[in-house]
Amino acid sequence: MKLISAYSLNQEDWLHLLMTSGSTKHLLPFWLDGLYKDRTIWERHVSPKLLEDLQQKMNFSLPRISSVQESQDGTVKFLIQFEDSLEVETVLIPFHKRFTVCLSSQVGCGMNCSFCYTGTQGLKRNLTSGEIVGQYLVARNWLKNKNSKVLNPSIVFMGQGEPLHNLTELKKAISILSDPQILGIGPKQMTLSTVGYLPGLKTFETLPNLNLALSLHSPFDEERKVLIPINERWPLPDVMKELDRITEGSKRIITYEYLLIKDFNMSDEHVEGLYKLLGNRPAILNLIPFNPFPGSNWERPEMSLIDAFKEKLVTKKLRVMIRTTKGSDILAACGQLKVNNLARNHEKH
Ligand code: SAH
Repeated sequence: MKLISAYSLNQEDWLHLLMTSGSTKHLLPFWLDGLYKDRTIWERHVSPKLLEDLQQKMNFSLPRISSVQESQDGTVKFLIQFEDSLEVETVLIPFHKRFTVCLSSQVGCGMNCSFCYTGTQGLKRNLTSGEIVGQYLVARNWLKNKNSKVLNPSIVFMGQGEPLHNLTELKKAISILSDPQILGIGPKQMTLSTVGYLPGLKTFETLPNLNLALSLHSPFDEERKVLIPINERWPLPDVMKELDRITEGSKRIITYEYLLIKDFNMSDEHVEGLYKLLGNRPAILNLIPFNPFPGSNWERPEMSLIDAFKEKLVTKKLRVMIRTTKGSDILAACGQLKVNNLARNHEKH
């Protein structure tokens, strides 16, 4: 029988479970500290009977690390295996003396974007909240074991999968990760990246106030379809309308991720199109040079082309950043995450 993961429960769930197991609410803080910080706390505060009961009902172990690869630039990629043997990749990225962890929300992805390695794998299944939180804990424990001074990495939901396509489990995971009595990662330390999955965007406000990024990749509706098939069903103008609704009356700034593909979306018309689309919106444009993967048929532009494109956008007074690629030597960069023989073969080297 598959047991529910202890890391799937948020504070409310634990309170309910402890109360219905004959305990009191006073146990809750000790219980949570024992689970997330130091199990010896349980020895002092939890009755052996209660502990045994709960241990029979649920699974207290973290997902297994199948392999770890470290890039020359300090990026670490974990291949993480769940109970049913399916695997995802989780990436720890060093950033200005701190770390960011890139979490997966699904095994594979159903969005089938033409430039994305994960998409070639198809969607296998949604991850549970416990599996999402589990990835974070694996990365944090790794830092702890390396005696890192900074332990609580920020979070980007930019790994495998479309996070808004798995909203229920994602929401639960965020409630656990952000709870000050559990892990206490502030919503502002989290960024969710979406391809523009409209049903999810419509309920975005039901999540805490985390940062939002849209994978834009083209300011033109027709062209965007070539890259992102779901743009056919949920066209860019509808997505923008929804983002306007989300930002209205708030100080929220949306990040627009823009893949840079050589000879495809970097012309002067694109500069003009981006200006028209984002010039009057609260926006940061994040340029991501295309990261190639085995079998990909798009090309990464040279740095001189990237700089020139950026300069033209800056002249238009758009706020622009170039995302530096980290971990590409171990296929850990954006869009390169796919669990297959290649990922597994790396283990042997
Ligand atoms: N499904 C979500 C989150 C996962 S992808 C989304 O689409 O936003 C995270 C980021 O990596 C997205 O901006 C995505 O467009 C980008 N990406 C995907 N494939 C890439 C590639 N080959 N090179 C560079 N970035 C890529």
